[in-house]
Amino acid sequence: MSDQPDAAERILAAVNAMADAASKALADLGEQFKPVMQTMRRLAADPLVQAEVHRRQVMRALGFPVPRGCHCACADAHPGTRVCDGEPVTTTLRRFELLGEVQLQVPTCAPCAAELMAQTR
Ligand SMILES: [Zn+2]
Ligand SMILES: [Zn+2]
Repeated sequence: MSDQPDAAERILAAVNAMADAASKALADLGEQFKPVMQTMRRLAADPLVQAEVHRRQVMRALGFPVPRGCHCACADAHPGTRVCDGEPVTTTLRRFELLGEVQLQVPTCAPCAAELMAQTR
């Protein structure tokens, strides 16, 4: 038995709402984005993503400022798809050319992460 069934339900609702919003955005873009949707569902089921969604909800509920900002650099990462919801709930590994090649985990919103994962498959 969970001691906070209420909280768990709220997280699920939030994650589902997120997946729904993304699915609506992506449905407009056509068949080729089906893999993205599948990845979105996988992300929504990820305990780490759920924990982050929950953490942000709790912070907001307590009146703390919650930083927004997806650092995915959409124009480079997935040009032509505007799925970003600006609400970072996970991280993705991005490669940067600085002085040589650097790999960094950057905060990424769920739709962007799904888009990136679908690409690299
Ligand atoms: Zn993006
Ligand atoms: Zn994004």
